[in-house]
Amino acid sequence: MKLDARQIETRTQELYEKLRAAGLKVTLQRLAVYRVLLQSHGHLTAEQVHQAVARDNPALSLSTVYNVLETLVKIGAIGEITTDGGTKLFDRTPGDHHHFIDTETGEVIDLDDSAGVKLDLNALARRGFAVEGAKLTVYGRRKK
Ligand SMILES: [Zn+2]
Repeated sequence: MKLDARQIETRTQELYEKLRAAGLKVTLQRLAVYRVLLQSHGHLTAEQVHQAVARDNPALSLSTVYNVLETLVKIGAIGEITTDGGTKLFDRTPGDHHHFIDTETGEVIDLDDSAGVKLDLNALARRGFAVEGAKLTVYGRRKK
């Protein structure tokens, strides 16, 4: 799902705060990379981000884009997931959340609480596991 202009503005303000809190500067490169992710459907490879960023900033190399993405992951502004095929996707939504992967198109969709996907982490705690987080990936196809 695409974010609207107001959501993008709010998230951009959050990026400023996270960069400042980490003692990092707000640079045009960081902003450009982050904005591409915000304007996407949510999950992109570094190559896809690079392609989109390079339209306005042709001088930006793939390795620079990659470094910026890693920095954004480190400060918690974005997340990253690895698909079963080993493809690393950068996720505009940081933090633990569940995903639905369309096995036909490969599209990755964030599932929020309204999707009704719940894990009983308390059951694990009762078995002595100290749970730190959980991300579930649901596979299937969307109804047409
Ligand atoms: Zn996600």
